[in-house]
Amino acid sequence: MAKLTGIPAAPGVAIGRVFPVDRRRARVPRFHIPPEEVESEIARLDAAVKESVEQLLQIRRSLGEGEQGAILDAHRLMADDPSLLEGAKGLIREELLNAEWAVRRLVRDMSEKLGSDGYLAERRADLDEVGDRIVHNLIGEKPMLVALPEEEVVIVAFDLPTAEAAVLLSSGKIKGLVTDFGSKTSHTAILARALEVPCVVGAGQASEIARAGDVIALDGSTGEVLVSPDAEEIRRFEAARAAAKSREAELLEDRDLPAQTRDGRRIFLFANIEFPEEVPSVIAHGGEGVGLYRTEFLYLNREELPTEEEHYSAYSSILERMQGRPVTIRTLDLGGDKLPIGHRSHEPNPALGLRAIRFTLRHPQLFRTQVRALLRASLHGTLQIMLPMIAAVGELREAKVQIESIRQELLREGKPVQEKIPIGIMLETPAAALAADRLARECDFFSIGTNDLIQYSLAIDRSNRDVAYLYKPLHLGVLRLIQASVDGAKDAGIECAMCGEMAGDPVYALILLALGLDNLSMNPADIPKVKRVIRSTSLADAKKLLEEAMAFSSHDEIERYVLNHMQERFPEVFEDAGMPASGPPV
Ligand code: PEP
Ligand code: MG
Repeated sequence: MAKLTGIPAAPGVAIGRVFPVDRRRARVPRFHIPPEEVESEIARLDAAVKESVEQLLQIRRSLGEGEQGAILDAHRLMADDPSLLEGAKGLIREELLNAEWAVRRLVRDMSEKLGSDGYLAERRADLDEVGDRIVHNLIGEKPMLVALPEEEVVIVAFDLPTAEAAVLLSSGKIKGLVTDFGSKTSHTAILARALEVPCVVGAGQASEIARAGDVIALDGSTGEVLVSPDAEEIRRFEAARAAAKSREAELLEDRDLPAQTRDGRRIFLFANIEFPEEVPSVIAHGGEGVGLYRTEFLYLNREELPTEEEHYSAYSSILERMQGRPVTIRTLDLGGDKLPIGHRSHEPNPALGLRAIRFTLRHPQLFRTQVRALLRASLHGTLQIMLPMIAAVGELREAKVQIESIRQELLREGKPVQEKIPIGIMLETPAAALAADRLARECDFFSIGTNDLIQYSLAIDRSNRDVAYLYKPLHLGVLRLIQASVDGAKDAGIECAMCGEMAGDPVYALILLALGLDNLSMNPADIPKVKRVIRSTSLADAKKLLEEAMAFSSHDEIERYVLNHMQERFPEVFEDAGMPASGPPV
């Protein structure tokens, strides 16, 4: 048995068979072959290409119709393309390169010809993936897997890009997920929580230790991972699973009660969702609205862009199913670690690049399609539009001008639109938080995105395990930025919500209450715990805790103080908690 400890990323216990998903690039041996080996090298290449085509056909057959199938068809055609095969053979014959090197060189040259802009550039990632598959087959390693498993399994991966995670985790076949890499606020971890798939990230060498078919057990609340556990350990994990279920049932007894403190401070608990299918879970957990719908997931699992009708149908379905409760739909936040399947960013630093509102304003046609659908869907419920990562007043103004002109366009076409649709912004950069008073004058609400706000204020990549230990929501600098945001909102008379992962961690509930947040939006499953904390306390107590905590200087001291207080005060809520969830075990 091997035991690993990673970062707890989505609660719950899973026990099942390992299903490895290997997304590492193939290692490419490079050497010259003697002239007499040219023909046998070419035969090796032919065999690897044939094997790649067969693998792609087999995966294709298991997928049925749909977007993933189309991607596989495109890959198979590329692998089968004579220009690829002949080009590589030419390099073997003329330059005496070994087959792996010839394939990698040819793919690189072909990629360069495709350029770095537009549609053809997008084919580069596909070409790269096909080349990688052939090289994997040449060296006899298992190539990347895109197929869905047939039985229920636990995925073990070095890392799982967000787009692949969306396909696999939404298949209903995944009992749990363990990755070597990643952090709790990466989008893959967020997705696992949203889809209630127990998950441990940053588990070191899990993908090297666990083999396909091994039994693996993981506890997404503690970060514990056991490969090939004995019967005794399995019993322990099963007992933990049963205890968690009964705790959850007990917390759900408050489902229809308001999130109100004993001295009368009422706040609202909303849900973050990535798919319309999550709405029943929002309601089942007592969500009073949707505080963040991450619409970029409409773009991630596919090759073509979603049409206006597809946007419209997703939005109107959520609005209708929420039956008049408020629904905050965020316009697309692509870039950073959210890229369509098979795409890699060519920006030197994607987190500081063309993402979120910057990407949208650069592509007005994409924005127009989405906003037309949003405005049309507004008649189906209570819609609020939220713009991601606004860092400057100018961006807000420009987006509002575009929204207004799209509204006029619809009215001219005779398409009705809700009279007043609140437009709010996400505060995700330190600059925006510090300029909150000015931004607040020009929008209808704020929502603080702490996942990015912490990333940008503490200068740590949110998906990098090596710096995850610095990811501290209770850093004095972060608390002051939240305070500045709330103050800015209050002065202008608008509401301030929070929808980053911090909002759903009950450890922080009293601190956020005391800081004056009006709404907290989180994964649906987190709502009952946060509600229990709020209903069992008073605003006066929360303010006292905030004051005491902010008297410390170091984030470790603040965190320890708050965690101890919360564990003593609410033992039933924190029974299975380790350190605050946004940091790794230390
Ligand atoms: C955030 O940054 O806190 C947020 C909610 O947005 P996302 O996690 O989608 O970047
Ligand atoms: Mg964000």
